[in-house]
Amino acid sequence: MNPVRVIGAGLAGCEAAWQAARRGVRVELYEMKPGARTPAHKTDYMSELVCSNSLRSNETSNAVGLLKEEMRRASSLIMEAADKTRVPAGSALAVDRHEFSKYITEKIRSNELITVYEREVTEVPDDGVLTVIATGPLTTDALSRSIEETLGRAGLHFFDAAAPIVDGGTVNYDRAYFASRYGRGEPSDYLNCPMTREEYDAFYDALVTARVAELHGDDGDINVFEGCMPVEVMAARGRDTLRFGPMKPVGLPDPRTGREAYAVVQLRREDAAGSMYNLVGFQTHLAFPEQRRVFGMIPGLEDAEFLRYGVMHRNTYINSPGLLSRTYSLVSRPNIYFAGQMTGVEGYVESAASGLYAGINAARRALGEDELFFPEETMTGAMGAYVSNGGLSGNFQPMNANFGIIAPLGKKVRGGKRARGEEYARRALEAIDKMKEEGLI
Ligand SMILES: Cc1cc2nc3c(=O)[nH]c(=O)nc-3n(C[C@H](O)[C@H](O)[C@H](O)COP(=O)(O)OP(=O)(O)OC[C@H]3O[C@@H](n4cnc5c(N)ncnc54)[C@H](O)[C@@H]3O)c2cc1C
Repeated sequence: MNPVRVIGAGLAGCEAAWQAARRGVRVELYEMKPGARTPAHKTDYMSELVCSNSLRSNETSNAVGLLKEEMRRASSLIMEAADKTRVPAGSALAVDRHEFSKYITEKIRSNELITVYEREVTEVPDDGVLTVIATGPLTTDALSRSIEETLGRAGLHFFDAAAPIVDGGTVNYDRAYFASRYGRGEPSDYLNCPMTREEYDAFYDALVTARVAELHGDDGDINVFEGCMPVEVMAARGRDTLRFGPMKPVGLPDPRTGREAYAVVQLRREDAAGSMYNLVGFQTHLAFPEQRRVFGMIPGLEDAEFLRYGVMHRNTYINSPGLLSRTYSLVSRPNIYFAGQMTGVEGYVESAASGLYAGINAARRALGEDELFFPEETMTGAMGAYVSNGGLSGNFQPMNANFGIIAPLGKKVRGGKRARGEEYARRALEAIDKMKEEGLI
């Protein structure tokens, strides 16, 4: 039987290897540790958590909580390790990072079907062996170059400079209004949050004094790119710089007053349903709680839910729409799969989930079986679809699990956000249980 090769023993690679071995497929797992390490990895364990020890919400009415439950039901190694090494953290699932990675390393090393090779891979293999590349956001330079050659020049990004994305259903439409600048284009493409002079001054003062996120490794290099300057850095150039840049109010009169505001924050639609909006020009390096506090001062966003916070960091990821299929295989070379953060999913759990999806499918191919598609009603399937299709904006951005990308419910659910989340979860877990009953996962 054909083996599956997995490159990178991080969260995605270990999950992919585990899923393939569970199906009786032999796995060759390549990991450059302990001989070499990325700037963020500090130990010799596999599946190292490079920063926080939290895997975020554990409630299924929350998108990442639902993703975890789907993975548990698909016998995920990462979830097994997380549940076994859990530490108290309220409704979040936090782990003892040392025990978590140790547990996974021991499970992988003691699996008779998995052989570990401790070496750096420098090229995308072209020997026809089914391969899952899961080398993460800090993939080594040589392999990054080879991936770039394989995908073409626009195929790989090296930095992530993203503005926050909010849930369109949580915007206050008594303050925000639809309009495109100078009436060009569809008004519904943009939501505008107008500010008075007093509101602008208060927002400005909060923005320039807010706490920025810690820098990791070579993240500092991001600042050399003028085109993606953090909004707080631009603001620090002068009190009015933003009013002549991303917050300029000209051509955007408020239809309720007919007048232009002192400043305007524009939100651009991310998806056809209008369930997600990004804050135009607000790429930022502020710490996540500070983004909630400061951007929550924008009129209309007082109670907005942030589906994704803005980030600016080194992040090697594929411009996946059109290049990767929804099972994470390369469209032009289907025997090559990618998994993890490098596919444009964002976060520990999301990375592991993509490894699960890619690993299952690489194994099925090795066994001569058809590909397995997770329905888009599941968070696992929705993430695969997002990666392969991208958002509406044409500006593909890495994405956390969120209900803005899952198949719409197609009906109104009373009881607010939590009740909606529970309905998404009920539908998704029903689909997952069906797949399990059919012996597919
Ligand atoms: C600094 C930093 C902090 C982050 N903090 C968080 C956080 O707090 N919470 C969160 O949810 N997400 C965080 N992320 C995002 C992301 O979820 C993690 O990076 C996650 O570990 C990604 O999983 P992965 O399996 O794709 O990659 P990784 O877990 O990074 O695994 C990749 C593996 O591949 C190996 N490797 C790399 N290149 C090669 C090569 N050429 N040959 C062989 N092996 C190779 C590496 O040694 C590593 O073991 C952070 C990312 C970074 C960079």
